[in-house]
Amino acid sequence: MKFGTKAIHAGVHPDPTTGAVMTPIYQTSTYAQESPGVHKGYEYARTQNPTRSVLEENLAALENGRFGIAFSSGLAAMDAVLKLLQPGDEIIATNDLYGGSYRLMTKIYEKYGIQTHFVAMGDPEQVREKINPRTKLFWIETPTNPMLQVIDLTTIIGMAQENQIMTCVDNTFASPYLQNPLDFGASIVLHSATKYLGGHSDLVLGALVVNDEKLAEQLHFIQNAAGAVPGPMDCFLCLRGIKTLHIRVERACKNAKKIARFLQQHPKVKNVYYPGFKDHPGHAIAKQQMRHYGAMVSFDLLEDSFEHAKKVLSATHLFTLAESLGGVESLIGHPATMTHASIPKADRLKVGLTDSLIRLSVGIEDVDDLINDLDQAFTTI
Ligand SMILES: *Cc1c(COP(=O)(O)O)cnc(C)c1O
Repeated sequence: MKFGTKAIHAGVHPDPTTGAVMTPIYQTSTYAQESPGVHKGYEYARTQNPTRSVLEENLAALENGRFGIAFSSGLAAMDAVLKLLQPGDEIIATNDLYGGSYRLMTKIYEKYGIQTHFVAMGDPEQVREKINPRTKLFWIETPTNPMLQVIDLTTIIGMAQENQIMTCVDNTFASPYLQNPLDFGASIVLHSATKYLGGHSDLVLGALVVNDEKLAEQLHFIQNAAGAVPGPMDCFLCLRGIKTLHIRVERACKNAKKIARFLQQHPKVKNVYYPGFKDHPGHAIAKQQMRHYGAMVSFDLLEDSFEHAKKVLSATHLFTLAESLGGVESLIGHPATMTHASIPKADRLKVGLTDSLIRLSVGIEDVDDLINDLDQAFTTI
């Protein structure tokens, strides 16, 4: 099956009890047993829920994987991955990554004796330098958030495999429609389904997809033992969102390309970060490992100040000033004070995350209206 067909059909079958075409919301916490231990495969809803099972099967298919495991949020999914590690183990992670991922590694897992080295993964030598016998996991985000650097999956995953190190790719920014890290040999793919998969800014959910049966077993064990599972309503909403994933992402990418070009020629804009530009350092790799260049665009202002950024951020009408991304509606954000506020200033400046950096999540509105909206916002500075 090709992608669009999988989005709609994978794992989805008419409900066995009624024939309902849409997957029902099994809003139940427990299931009747015929006699002790004799049941239809469902005992208690933390462990299994039919709505969740359909979503998990669908997610696995979208990522060309065998096992999907859903969680109550993207960070809960990440937490489950980190729980695979032991005190003394080390992680090597992208230095330009989701602020919440950075916070989980540094503020929670460091105190349990798991240390993370943040490196510029665009330069494989920096990764190699940090590898030692304690290195157990590579944490890869590509394209990165918010600087939209592209990490070469073939090279980095190859290096991990040589050293028997597990890899987890946070594929949230690309969505499974644009990029499938398991095809490159990644051990685990992570999604904040809150973003493109859900796609309508109406749910919080996370997912992991893996191929290895033993790894799937361990993660299912953690899912049940720690209990950060999504509710059936959110699973239903996510399944519903996924049915249009390919159409939405296709359109959003098209819009983003036009907006990136508009920003690039605007006199008040300094740098535009968008992997679709031919002179973007990751362009060739993006072309190789992604279907399109994504719908996230970051830029900073010629006059780099919080004040100027604040004016632009407060003046858009169609771009809503909000955290998150990947919904049908366009959003505008200020990483330094919003998504990346937990990253120290010196660290963020190192990756180019300046005071005036603005991040756009381009939605699927008519692009001319979006461009006009930005254009009028620039008149305030
Ligand atoms: C939002 C996000 C997360 C965290 O997901 P939640 O669903 O908010 O917990 C992780 N990684 C990336 C890249 C994100 O954008």
